[in-house]
Amino acid sequence: MSKEKYVYFFGNGKADGKAEMKNLLGGKGANLAEMTNIGLPVPPGFTITTEVCTYYYANKRSYPKSLKDEVVKAMKRLETSVGAKFGDKKNPLLVSVRSGARASMPGMMDTILNLGINDVVVEGLAKKTNNPRFAYDAYRRFVQMYGDVVLGLKPTHKDEIDPFEMIIEKKKHEKGVHNDTELTAQDLKDLVVEFKKAIKEKTGNDFPEDPMQQLWGAIGAVFGSWNNDRAIAYRKMYDIPESWGTAVSVVAMVYGNMGESSGTGVAFTRDPASGTNKFYGEYLMNAQGEDVVAGTRTPIPISELAKANPKIYGKLEKIRKTLEKHYKDMNDIEFTIQEGTLYMLQCRVGKRTAFAAIKMAVDMVEEKLISEKDAINRVEPDQLNQLLRPVFDLKEKDAAVKGGRLLAKGLNAGPGAATGRVVFNAPDAEEWNKRGETVILTRIETSPEDIRGMDAAVGILTARGGMTSHAALVARQMGKVCVAGCSALEIDYSTHTMTVNGKVIKEGDWISIDGTTGEVIEGKLPTKPSEVLQVLIDKTLDPKDAPVYQEFAKVLKWADKYRTLKIRTNADQPDQASNAVEFGAEGIGLCRTEHMFFGEGKIGPMREMILADTLEARKAALSKLLPLQRTDFEGIFKAMAGRPVTIRTLDPPLHEFLPHEEKPQRELAAQMGISYEKVHQRVEDLHEFNPMLGFRGCRLGIIYPEITDMQSRAIFEAAANVQKEGTKVEPEVMIPLVGNVKELENQAAIVRKAAEDVMKEKGVKFTYHVGTMIEIPRGAITADEIAKVAEFFSFGTNDLTQTTLGVSRDDAARFLIPYVEKEIYAKDPFEVLDRVGVGSLMQMAKEKGRSVRSDLKIGICGEHGGEPSSVEFCHMIGINYVSCSPFRVPIARLAAARAALKYPAVAAKAPKKPVKKSVRKPTRKSKR
Ligand code: PEP
Ligand code: MG
Repeated sequence: MSKEKYVYFFGNGKADGKAEMKNLLGGKGANLAEMTNIGLPVPPGFTITTEVCTYYYANKRSYPKSLKDEVVKAMKRLETSVGAKFGDKKNPLLVSVRSGARASMPGMMDTILNLGINDVVVEGLAKKTNNPRFAYDAYRRFVQMYGDVVLGLKPTHKDEIDPFEMIIEKKKHEKGVHNDTELTAQDLKDLVVEFKKAIKEKTGNDFPEDPMQQLWGAIGAVFGSWNNDRAIAYRKMYDIPESWGTAVSVVAMVYGNMGESSGTGVAFTRDPASGTNKFYGEYLMNAQGEDVVAGTRTPIPISELAKANPKIYGKLEKIRKTLEKHYKDMNDIEFTIQEGTLYMLQCRVGKRTAFAAIKMAVDMVEEKLISEKDAINRVEPDQLNQLLRPVFDLKEKDAAVKGGRLLAKGLNAGPGAATGRVVFNAPDAEEWNKRGETVILTRIETSPEDIRGMDAAVGILTARGGMTSHAALVARQMGKVCVAGCSALEIDYSTHTMTVNGKVIKEGDWISIDGTTGEVIEGKLPTKPSEVLQVLIDKTLDPKDAPVYQEFAKVLKWADKYRTLKIRTNADQPDQASNAVEFGAEGIGLCRTEHMFFGEGKIGPMREMILADTLEARKAALSKLLPLQRTDFEGIFKAMAGRPVTIRTLDPPLHEFLPHEEKPQRELAAQMGISYEKVHQRVEDLHEFNPMLGFRGCRLGIIYPEITDMQSRAIFEAAANVQKEGTKVEPEVMIPLVGNVKELENQAAIVRKAAEDVMKEKGVKFTYHVGTMIEIPRGAITADEIAKVAEFFSFGTNDLTQTTLGVSRDDAARFLIPYVEKEIYAKDPFEVLDRVGVGSLMQMAKEKGRSVRSDLKIGICGEHGGEPSSVEFCHMIGINYVSCSPFRVPIARLAAARAALKYPAVAAKAPKKPVKKSVRKPTRKSKR
């Protein structure tokens, strides 16, 4: 076989490709091959590989030399296989030309159906099928699609109607009919002429009559669609690399629009919204594929097919089982019935909501279809967010419904509750969202062009389309609340209004949509916590009555079995700490003491301390703060019930605690009995040009040792008190912003002295540790020296990112988004850890640190500690734990398990139990 094989054939029960070849054949091509190989009825065809796409873009949109020849040969093989000829006037073969990337990108790229038809072929098709209406309908559809996709006749403005649809509407009006199906063969023939004329007039393009020319035009357009706006937006959203490219599959046409014994449908082998193990889908008789998903006709539930055509339904049921057994997952399929014969046009692992993902994972383990490890890999960590999302308060909703605010009911396409202001097109959704409005994108139907607007909206509402419509599919994948096919809505794009049962809702009006029940309610509605939160946090629901919670808990229990990273939380209040424990936190990785100073009664003495002129005055203020801090720490130790608690000494620049405007400064002066001028002067004195690199972190405690002393005493006195009451404590004191071991030596001495003094005074012994944050590059580079003093390290990756990249975490927004758009940064480095830069420093610090202290406990407490890819990196470099905000703890648990399954070698090396000694974790950014 020559090295360059660009075309893979499938047909008559045998295929060159297979499911594992997704990278080369795209998902669609690989699965068409696989279905052919496992004996499912697939029309024959061939796939042009993604390598051709790469070549196409690298070589000024041209093809490899040998491609033409391979395509011609494959077309011949296809003709033989079908027993018809491409471009033949008696027995014509028509094909579809479809896109298909490695990862599914539903509707983002282009597809062309009925290709190979022209003024002569159409006559042959009419004779061959004895159905001129069908032939002209196929021709009209082809010209429409080709005119749009290849020749570029599209709407030019957001409120403009599709130019082809305008011509059809005009024709229907002339003929006095309502539906496309009422147009005659002659009407359709006329439409073809009018379409071609409009294309020529508006784009200057002639419609190609030569089928081979049509084929190459379509292949080029499909490759070209890899770089259309919506595909680019989609790739960004789902992290699909540009370099992957799309494949192109050319498949013999089968027709669902040949009359009442033909039809087409889409289905899921299980319910993609709830996860229920039930065949789920929709179909339309006498229709072509696009009709079902485009939402132009409302499709019929697949269960009806069981009654209407039990034979075909039985076959589909069998295929459903075969696919689930073969792929060991839920599949999303497309099928066509041509005059009573069933064909499979596509299968792929189906997108699902978080609710469905978790239910299917648990059910499939119970059905013995998959293992626990598979189940862990079936749920994306970020999807767990959806399970924590609010639902409407039932009482409030009932009252709204009884009060006549129920506008309509549609399909419950994307679960959850959303309240927002109505906008009627995607660009407006984006614009409104940018100015801080919460919006519900309301459309007659959505199309792939709407992707950015859908992303900007909290919910999506459509008037047409079913559970498998574009709106429904994409919303579910994005985790958006969606009500689809709400046919009572009469939407008028030109006036930006919709009428529902006589009521007029204008752009900007508030509505609420319930994606779990399909209800659309006028006005705002309050929401309440999700089932998981009701069980874990509010304790208002018994786990027995909470099936979603049970599944959530099962998957996380399995995750805990396989992960080797420990999970801690960033918390500075007892209630946050207890919430985190409910979510599975095994300790506190970062308690930011500065947050506590904003609590009841604390800011006064804190300001007094900052404004003090003398050591005595400062100590006097600190002595007021000590008991307050001690009480806070007691609460935290109790909530954590013996789990390790890492507490960081004061970190932010002092000016953050002072008022900056005249009025509050005058009030403060009055409260403290000092002059306004003095307060004002002190604030001015503390002003820094670059406070993030200024007087903060351990520098504060070095210049004012009494602050570190007070905080350490408060921590240890709290530890002693709580331990005396019978609760085990494990305090870990963490010094921030250390770049030089001497800084740590200085602060550690104060902390240790306080610990010894308190133990003596209170007559108790407790274990404690002193460690440091590694959050500036010099700290990482000199980690071997620092580890001689530090009993633990915690990576403060917020500051470490800021200082490694030289990018201010507070001022970067202006260029970070463009940087990501221009792909200078793959991701916002404050969100997803920069493995190459910051990650290398972490790796170095880990190695240097453990070279002098082999049991050095190491964690991460920057924001990255709850972000799945960063958690994976932490696992890979072999640190002990990640720490994140309480609500991200479940995400981190699952991400850590997935990392351990993906990189078992690291998992094997990691200590089974956390190393006895030490550490703590960090938290999140808070400097402002
Ligand atoms: C960090 O820098 O990553 C960190 C946790 O500390 P802070 O965000 O409070 O500076
Ligand atoms: Mg920091």
